[in-house]
Amino acid sequence: MTESVEQTPSPSPFHRGEQAAQKRLGVREQMERFGSRVIRDYMPDQHREFYRLLPFIFVGHADKGGWPWASILFNQPGFITSSDAKTLDINALPVTGDPLADALRPGTRLGLLGIELPTRRRNRLAGHIAERADDGIRLTVDQAFGNCPQYIQARELERVDTAAMPTTRVEDIVELDSRARALIQQSDTFFVASYVDNGSGEANEGADVSHRGGRPGFIRVDNETTLTIPDYLGNNHFNTFGNFIENSRAGLLFLDFENGHLLTLTGTVEIIWDAPEAEYFEGAQRLWKFHVDHGRWINDALPLRWKLDEYSPNTLLSGTWDEAAQLRDADAQRNQWSDYAVTKVVEESSVIKSIYLEPRDHPVPKFKAGQFLTVKMPIAGRDTIRTYTVSSAPADTTVRISVKRESASESDLPDGLCSNFIHDQLNVGDVIQAKAPCGAFTFDASEQRPAVLLAGGVGITPMVSMARHALVEGVRTRYIRPITLISSASNGQQRAFFDELNEIAAQSAGSIRSFWALSQVDSDMEPAVDYHQHGRITPQFLQAVLPLDDYDFYLCGPSAFMQSMYDMLRELGVNNARIFAEEFGPASLQRDADQATVEFKPLAVASEAIVEFTDSQVEQAWSDGDGSLLDFAEAHGLSPEFGCRSGQCGACKTTLVAGAVVYQTEPSSPLQDDEVLLCCAVPARVEGEDVARLAVKL
Ligand SMILES: Cc1cc2nc3c(=O)[nH]c(=O)nc-3n(C[C@H](O)[C@H](O)[C@H](O)COP(=O)(O)OP(=O)(O)OC[C@H]3O[C@@H](n4cnc5c(N)ncnc54)[C@H](O)[C@@H]3O)c2cc1C
Repeated sequence: MTESVEQTPSPSPFHRGEQAAQKRLGVREQMERFGSRVIRDYMPDQHREFYRLLPFIFVGHADKGGWPWASILFNQPGFITSSDAKTLDINALPVTGDPLADALRPGTRLGLLGIELPTRRRNRLAGHIAERADDGIRLTVDQAFGNCPQYIQARELERVDTAAMPTTRVEDIVELDSRARALIQQSDTFFVASYVDNGSGEANEGADVSHRGGRPGFIRVDNETTLTIPDYLGNNHFNTFGNFIENSRAGLLFLDFENGHLLTLTGTVEIIWDAPEAEYFEGAQRLWKFHVDHGRWINDALPLRWKLDEYSPNTLLSGTWDEAAQLRDADAQRNQWSDYAVTKVVEESSVIKSIYLEPRDHPVPKFKAGQFLTVKMPIAGRDTIRTYTVSSAPADTTVRISVKRESASESDLPDGLCSNFIHDQLNVGDVIQAKAPCGAFTFDASEQRPAVLLAGGVGITPMVSMARHALVEGVRTRYIRPITLISSASNGQQRAFFDELNEIAAQSAGSIRSFWALSQVDSDMEPAVDYHQHGRITPQFLQAVLPLDDYDFYLCGPSAFMQSMYDMLRELGVNNARIFAEEFGPASLQRDADQATVEFKPLAVASEAIVEFTDSQVEQAWSDGDGSLLDFAEAHGLSPEFGCRSGQCGACKTTLVAGAVVYQTEPSSPLQDDEVLLCCAVPARVEGEDVARLAVKL
């Protein structure tokens, strides 16, 4: 399991395995710089004081056979003292049956984790036993560092009268009995010990003990000896995984917080760096499997009980194995229609309403901020399909779409069918059908380059999702991608999501900023508060609000808005490849390619073709001017399913049985070689043939 890596010259605070993990995940240099500042060979005063206040501490060690174990030592607060920055005295001994008892002799290397559950504060250290006394140990500190409060559930400690406690009973096990499986399955916290000793004698080797937290159900019991555990984003030290790389053994400690029993296990570990399963597990960066070798129940071990106060905010953003399985099943049916119930309807502006939708028989499918939902509603006796961008974040528990009422531009034309139905007739409790969100206009919140989101009218919907997502990811990863969102609207009444965006901006502590450009402003509106620009978004306005930097630009709005924003950005020297755009209709944005861009040369359109719709057994002559295959099919009495009619939603996708097609607008819905999108495809010319032949399944 050992990976070969270049070793940073001593004294690195990280050993070979930790360096290998950091290198693999692209944080090596950053961690070396950071680690050498925050990992000390002594305890800062703050840590010494912190340890003094603790009523318990976790300890990791390896036994004579090399098996690591995690343990708990406890006493009254004040049982840990420090006479100087290199020395820690612990006035406690392990509980009956704890393998640590056999290792308490000078020279044993220990890893310590001090954790204050009510405040979620924690500090770590590695050291070795300098002296053993009758009632405790004296430790010399080799490494000390602070740790962040992520995934720690807040708990209150209560003590029980030891005189009233049954005698401690130790039960050896070599596999997980039903009690052990139940405890693990409902655990939201455990401790993992790992150990490395390559004989270097360096301070960076030795024992480690680390906390792991998640929602109950975050550990999967695969069978009597195997657990699968997600690894979440942490401090990038990779103390535990680094140890696993060097020595694939670990000790796991589960506390029965309510009854004072301990389940302590030791075994071997398998790291799964790129697990497809992890994709469906919210927050999992990678997985690891733990195979039990042997262990113990230490019944009635502790006179301590803990009451759960609240889950850590990071924990609440993470998944469980049940949810991962449901998400995987939902993903397998991404292209099927499924029922979504309307749970809430909110007026966002004078023209936009938000509809909150909850899938009826599965969790919200996985999607990326910026993607759209394809919905189907029975309107006037006919199933009508449209696409609406999701305006909620992927981590939200419901899907929100936000729909602008489309009114006819001329009095003799009908108003927009679906949008008016949604505004006037869709109510809480109604059920509509939808496919899982899809689309290529997506936002990566982990990207370092700042983003500028330019929204025109209802084009704000993907931008709200992106801003919400960046904020949520900030809680999870402690990095908020900088965003400047500039929204343009006709007037104050049409400013959708004004308060929500201000709230996001406030919570982001300056990483996300929201500006408004309004065509008309009312006399009571305050500049720089209610709006920031009177009129269009101009180059001067952009330059005024954007510090000089290299940005990704995201555009969404009506065609004319998109084109003018695009042209303005190009004139300001923005690279074409840095501009991402989404249109709520047929793609019309005229891009001018960067010099290095190779032009895509499509096949030519046929002038005439014989088109066969195989299922319906209809064969008809198509000629240039008959429009897309969707128009052509409808003209011949067929009623294929369709949605956006612009190559984006994929609702009209079918099998291309024979022949070739050309796309009038480049489809953004993903396509296999044998698939065709009827709404924007026409027959392609075949060299040497006057009439092309085409067969599609319909
Ligand atoms: C990827 C994508 C994402 C989208 N996201 C959103 C979103 O987040 N929010 C949102 O509000 N919309 C969004 N849309 C647009 C949405 O899908 C619908 O197109 C929109 O709601 C209009 O649908 P409708 O049924 O109300 O109008 P339709 O009935 O399709 O009519 C559209 C327009 O044409 C006019 N019209 C109707 N009949 C005729 C006729 N015979 N001749 C001439 N004109 C006519 C109508 O007056 C109306 O203005 C998105 C579209 C795409 C492709």
